[in-house]
Amino acid sequence: MQKKDLKNLTIEELETLFLGAGKERFRAKQIFKWMYQKGVEDFSLMSNISRGFQHELSETAYISTLHPEAVEVSQDGTRKYLFKLDDGERVESVLIPDEGRNTLCISSQVGCAMGCAFCLTGTFRLTRNLTTAEIVNQVCAVRREADIRNIVLMGMGEPLANLHNVIRALKIIIDPDGLQFSNRRVTVSTSGLVPEMEQLGKAVTVNLAVSLNATTDEMRDRLMPINRRYPLSELMAACRRFPLPSRRMITFEYVLIRDMNDSLEDAKRLVRLISSVPAKVNLIAFNEHEGCSFKAPTQEAIDRMHRFLLDKHITVITRSSRGADISAACGQLKGKLDKKQVEAKEEVENEPHF
Ligand code: SAH
Ligand code: SF4
Repeated sequence: MQKKDLKNLTIEELETLFLGAGKERFRAKQIFKWMYQKGVEDFSLMSNISRGFQHELSETAYISTLHPEAVEVSQDGTRKYLFKLDDGERVESVLIPDEGRNTLCISSQVGCAMGCAFCLTGTFRLTRNLTTAEIVNQVCAVRREADIRNIVLMGMGEPLANLHNVIRALKIIIDPDGLQFSNRRVTVSTSGLVPEMEQLGKAVTVNLAVSLNATTDEMRDRLMPINRRYPLSELMAACRRFPLPSRRMITFEYVLIRDMNDSLEDAKRLVRLISSVPAKVNLIAFNEHEGCSFKAPTQEAIDRMHRFLLDKHITVITRSSRGADISAACGQLKGKLDKKQVEAKEEVENEPHF
């Protein structure tokens, strides 16, 4: 029989497993605390579990971990963690410091199938979904060395295309017996899979970010093929129905691409589009990369959009491109690194950074 990785289970699933094996329900809580609060992976170190049960567990189950294969540190303090998975695939997580309040951006898939025209991850297509354990282990690994205040599922992949593992991972992340994050500090970013948005909202309460990136169906069809299945009217209706944590707003991400979606007309349409939703806007300047001929917007276009939204009393943040020098900025993650690069990166890591 194959051993079960306990990090793939929510606390309810672990309780069911234990009850089915004739154990007490509270054992699940004890094991969760060892795994997620004390970072213990070895059953023999779990001092409140009897020797006999420890032995039984080690015969049938194990607790996985991830260790970064490389960590790159950007001049602005952003850290990119590269993880090698059991089958040799790689994913990345990015830790973005902001006045001591760190945000960790984690991945949900290896590659992505959505094929957005501007996104580097998308050009790699989908290799596979991450398991629940692989998603939570990104948090566990980074938390061993840094305080994390916010978690965003904005790394590689479309989280809602891996809905069931993402829901499980979110439950573990916000579980008071698990990773103990407040649901107000956890955000899932989606390109707009409408039925899955609904399912997510029913299963777990977390913040939602929607990658809008266009203000007309015509432009969004071009930039994000998912729009042909779920056009703007359906997407906005799903946003209106989405159950947010109390007093929270939906974040609309808007990647500004020169001469595509950065006009004053776009600004006006954007305001109209989001007017029926409690909304804030994250403007992101397109990060240029090989394999895409789109251009970054001018500073004037960024300022014009930013000011127009502010004038309409919309909360807007223009996200400065963090970690661009280490390819950790939005849309730059690809999770591939050859050996030579890894060595070079480790040298960078050892340099003093101020
Ligand atoms: N798949 C999810 C989450 C990962 S993408 C989603 O699409 O929401 C995270 C963010 O990066 C998205 O808002 C996306 O629009 C943005 N992005 C992708 N490629 C980019 C690029 N080249 N420059 C700037 N932002 C980009
Ligand atoms: Fe996938 Fe998001 Fe990139 Fe689109 S923007 S290809 S959904 S990762």
